[in-house]
Parts: sequence; structure tokens; C-alpha cells
Amino acid sequence: MFVDTHMHEMTYSKDSFLSLDEMVRIAKQKGLGAICITDHDSMGLKDYAAEYTERTGFPVFVGIEFFSLQGDIVALGIDEYPEKRVTAQEFIDFVKGQGGVCFAAHPFRNNNRGLEEHLRFVKGLDGLEVLNGSTSPGACAKAAAYAEELKLFTLGSSDCHVPEKVGVCATYFPEEAKTMEEFLKVFKKGEMKPAYYRNGAYHILDGQRPEEICRISF
Ligand SMILES: [Zn+2]
Repeated sequence: MFVDTHMHEMTYSKDSFLSLDEMVRIAKQKGLGAICITDHDSMGLKDYAAEYTERTGFPVFVGIEFFSLQGDIVALGIDEYPEKRVTAQEFIDFVKGQGGVCFAAHPFRNNNRGLEEHLRFVKGLDGLEVLNGSTSPGACAKAAAYAEELKLFTLGSSDCHVPEKVGVCATYFPEEAKTMEEFLKVFKKGEMKPAYYRNGAYHILDGQRPEEICRISF
């Protein structure tokens, strides 16, 4: 199953132009099996998404992209999040305390919102986003090199804010998940792989060297 694990919907991400309906429509077109809405410092869409999933049968998992004091971290499977900015480590511990999972978003994007060298010092990240559809291939390759060195699971996601970006990158999970509970179980096994969409299909990154990632365009 391919899942776009980091996406922004317009109701609670003010920099997004995407409605949930449109996101799901494009996701289905591309062959995604589920999507994750991870708005900036908000999980406001949770109830609406749950109702939407129940009505349509398409899994929409709501997490958050939390701007910690050291950079953005995406978390899934939590009910609560800190009301103000806290350190990356405090946020990770908070997520873990609730049984959730978290990964570093675009750690080397050039907007000062990635964890960058802090990746080396935080403990408990479940993964690292090595393909981010809104980040340069060079910064993605650098993330892949760090993931290799730090032995972290790797993910891909679009980080979409506009229709043409929905699903440009995604994460492949070898098992299906319809509920958040199932998704967390599959996630924690760590068998996921990053993927990108090109010519009408997803292509899984499997053992590619970071320098090869520089040549992927999405
Ligand atoms: Zn984002």
C-alpha cells in the first residue's frame, strides 16, 4: 500500500490550497491506499476526517507537523500535542508517551525548518523523510545519507499544498492498513520504503545511493 504521509489541507493549514475532497480524488487517481493530513501545529481536521473516512471508506489519517524549537517533526497516532513550541526531544518523548510515531520532515530543506544536525542528537525518531515532494533533490539526498548513517527508517511524502503536488512522493508499506491502529502497527515494523510517482506509477526506492536520489525529479 502506498501512503502519502505528510500533506496539508486548507482548513487548518493556511498556506494550503487543497480541500480534503480534492486530495482524496487525486490520491485515488494515483493509486494511493491512504493519506495522512499533517497540518502545521494543528489536528483540527481529525473529527471531519474520521467522518469522511466512515462515509467514503477511504482512510484519512490525521497527524500533525509540529514546529519544534529545532525544526519540523511529523507525528501520527497521537491525541494531544504541546500548546507551545518545545524542544524536538520533548516533542518526540511526548509522542512516544502516547504510543504514536514520528519522523523528521525535510531535515535539510533550505527554509530553516528542518532538524539538520539535531538529527544526530535526538533519540526516538521512528524515521526520516528522505523524499519530500516540496524539497530539492539535493536536500533529499542529504537526508538519505543521514538516514543511512543513523540507521533510521526512511519515508517519502509530498508535503503538498497545491493539487499538482498531491502524491508526487509517498511511502510504500508492505501491509494494508484501514485504521490508525493498523497503520501504527505496520509503521512500527519499519518495513516501509520511500517512493515517487512518475509516468503513471509509483517507483520504490530500494537501496539507491543518496547520489542517485539527486537525479530523481518529482
Ligand atoms: Zn509540511
